[in-house]
Amino acid sequence: MVKEIVLASNNSGKAREFGDILSPLGIEVHLQKEFDIPEAEENGLSFIENALIKARNAAAHAHMPALADDSGLCVDALGGAPGIYSARYCGTWGNDKANNDKLLEALKDVPADKRTARYFVALAYVRSKDDPVPVVVTASWEGTIGMKPMGQNGFGYDPLFVVTGRNCTAAQIPHQIKNVISHRARALSLLVSELSRCNEI
Ligand code: IMP
Repeated sequence: MVKEIVLASNNSGKAREFGDILSPLGIEVHLQKEFDIPEAEENGLSFIENALIKARNAAAHAHMPALADDSGLCVDALGGAPGIYSARYCGTWGNDKANNDKLLEALKDVPADKRTARYFVALAYVRSKDDPVPVVVTASWEGTIGMKPMGQNGFGYDPLFVVTGRNCTAAQIPHQIKNVISHRARALSLLVSELSRCNEI
């Protein structure tokens, strides 16, 4: 039974989200900065490959089981872009405003009914750096890309992501609700089921 894991991320928001679900199961979640882990080179071609690269890197340096996520926004009219490059769509890492501006520009001639999109996430859990049977789950969250940013909550593309079934963007949803219905929330609940099926928890 797993007692502690390292989360291959230094994002404290994600750590809280993951910790909220895993702590009640008796699993202590460490951040990778506790172990001075160098960033992994995310050179995979899919969310799953990149999540596995990050999880193996964290397990190798922390010498304990590791969990990593890789996520992004896939827009149908753009052939799935920005996809695995979501965080650096504008050319530099993590500039949400520039990423959103570039997305609006790329979709400027695309009508409302052709602006379908989804957030996608892959979670990878490895027991050790060379675990041959990692636990991998994926989930998505459907929506469309709005014509202008709306809302102040969330991060990334949330002000443009109009959630299917709700007449608002992800940035207009309180974070307590987003944390239950988002792609990451769904993937985390799938992961817990899989870890339980594998007798890890
Ligand atoms: P990462 O998985 O933390 O590397 O996130 C990749 C990028 O995808 C983020 O920087 C955001 O641009 C985008 N992204 C992933 N999940 C979300 C979300 O829940 N809201 C908004 N943007 C997201």
